[in-house]
Amino acid sequence: MSTADLMPNTPWIEPVYRGRFAPSPTGPLHAGSLVAALASWLDARAHGGAWLVRMEDVDAPRCVPGSDRLILEQLAACGLVSDEPVVWQSQRGARYQAALDCLMASGLAYPCACSRKDIEIARQALGPPRQRHQAAVYPGTCRPERGGLQGRAPRAWRFRLPEDARVQWADARLGPQAQDVASTVGDFVLRRADGLWAYQLAVVVDDAEQGITHVVRGDDLADNTARQILLQQALGYATPSYRHVPLVLAADGEKLSKQHGAQPLDLSHPLDALSQAASHLGLAPAQTDVATALAGWVSAWSVAVPAAPSTRPSEA
Ligand code: GLU
Repeated sequence: MSTADLMPNTPWIEPVYRGRFAPSPTGPLHAGSLVAALASWLDARAHGGAWLVRMEDVDAPRCVPGSDRLILEQLAACGLVSDEPVVWQSQRGARYQAALDCLMASGLAYPCACSRKDIEIARQALGPPRQRHQAAVYPGTCRPERGGLQGRAPRAWRFRLPEDARVQWADARLGPQAQDVASTVGDFVLRRADGLWAYQLAVVVDDAEQGITHVVRGDDLADNTARQILLQQALGYATPSYRHVPLVLAADGEKLSKQHGAQPLDLSHPLDALSQAASHLGLAPAQTDVATALAGWVSAWSVAVPAAPSTRPSEA
């Protein structure tokens, strides 16, 4: 029996805010990833919302065994505990397949036989390459209207961009954003040639199925938002509100990352690690205990960060 059955005249009101922290378990948390964890947790709590942790372990070759458990321990030591059971993307392949099937059925995805080399050659034939993050914009070689696979074996599956792939959205921190996905990215990959699910598809399916209303993450991910919004629209999902928080940079100005030699968080001093993350977010460091510090930062965050509008999944 649901709560609605118990109170038949009372409309069922879902929590208006559901946020998440979605680390890739490629190693332990470091000072940079703690900033994203803390910001997403503070934003959820400041809105009286739920905070979920999702392990983004679809890219299995990059994952380090055991780092998912370690990340959860590190978060717990910092007082950050998921309000719902943690979800592992590696267990959700059937959901991603269902979404891909749905896109295929409506002509919004197609198989692609192109290797990286093929794409380069096709692009060169089109004139000077338009490069973004070193990856060539996909020229649409395997689009169904251009003949599709033409007898070649499918390697990957791509999203077929709509006619007008210009996306505008308002980031809660960065302000108005715009991207023309056709000229900057092209039809992007949903399932990779190595059989792995692409981040874009997995994140969009999971955010929707977990009812995420607010995404708070590092601003290195802002560039993915337009692609994710297009996928949400194609799958009939609502678009959450987005806030991209400042990255922690290494001394050389590069993103602090495990690959960049970032040190794992020191679990013996969680308050120090949290205080450092809080300072990065413009909050005063604390010298109390973890619980008191978190409560103080929630109040400060509520004052400093006005509520972002929430888009409910049903309003898609
Ligand atoms: N798994 C991604 C990362 O660790 C974050 C994805 C997201 O927050 O959308 O960089």
